[in-house]
Amino acid sequence: MLGNCRLCEQNTNIKQSHIIPEWGYKNLYDSKHRLLNISMRENIVYPCFKQNGAKEYLLCNECEQHFSKLENYSKKYIHSYTIIVQKILLVKIIMIIVG
Ligand SMILES: [Zn+2]
Repeated sequence: MLGNCRLCEQNTNIKQSHIIPEWGYKNLYDSKHRLLNISMRENIVYPCFKQNGAKEYLLCNECEQHFSKLENYSKKYIHSYTIIVQKILLVKIIMIIVG
């Protein structure tokens, strides 16, 4: 898809990127690899399931590769925490991204 990369701002092919790295969802999936998600439609909140973490057209290939290196680096540290601390960290990251 042609668009502006959110990092380098070049108008080029942009890829669907995970908003949170896929490994960040690891402990949130149930035994059927389903992720409980909360959706809102017409001011009604309802639960639903997703098979993968949220993605959005964000980055060009070069920036995606750059982020991938940083994500792999941070993965080592986050996975060393307990599951509850991982979930708290992910919620905080989501709150920062959502604003
Ligand atoms: Zn870029």
